[in-house]
Amino acid sequence: MTALVKQLRAWQFRELLYSAAVAVPKRKTSKARRDRRRANHGISAPSLSVCPQCHEPVRPHHVCRNCGHYRGREVEPLTQEAP
Ligand SMILES: [Zn+2]
Repeated sequence: MTALVKQLRAWQFRELLYSAAVAVPKRKTSKARRDRRRANHGISAPSLSVCPQCHEPVRPHHVCRNCGHYRGREVEPLTQEAP
């Protein structure tokens, strides 16, 4: 192998390395910044109200999964084909 070919291979290899490079953060995330980010990561139980029809717990603004009523009307199962 000639020296020129060796040099070419080296360039190709370097090109391959650089094409696989990823974005790297410039500085370490401080504990304060990390903790501020995670301040909203907590989960809470969904709020529940009581179905006026069957008195089962239902999520607000949702159809009752037990009896299919919403705001005092039966809406499920759907009698009309969805458009
Ligand atoms: Zn219900």
